[in-house]
Amino acid sequence: MTKRFRERMSRNLRRIEQEIVDRLSVEYDSMQTMMESTAGKDEIDLAEEHVDRETLEMLGQQDRNRLSRVSAALRRMHTRGYGICQECGRPISEKRLEAMPDALLCFECKHAREEGGRRWTAARP
Ligand SMILES: [Zn+2]
Repeated sequence: MTKRFRERMSRNLRRIEQEIVDRLSVEYDSMQTMMESTAGKDEIDLAEEHVDRETLEMLGQQDRNRLSRVSAALRRMHTRGYGICQECGRPISEKRLEAMPDALLCFECKHAREEGGRRWTAARP
């Protein structure tokens, strides 16, 4: 991996990190608004709002997961582990990193893991 590529990925990661932080703070604000507006509503309204809140929490969870992956990727920039597959130790292709700068696994390992996951799920009664 060239220094230039690494620097570009570092910038991408920081941008993603910022986007998530911004989005999470918007989500947090709308949660707060929703909590406050719950007062004085009937049960149907509350049920609908409950769904919205769950959706928001779920989205928030996804963002937090992504955020921790992005932060981990940024840390790996310093330890030189960035762009190395966590599973097989081979370099992750630059094309894959372009598409997903916080990728932890190379395409093959990611694919194998997904296949394994599906088989495992299918094998359950
Ligand atoms: Zn791999």
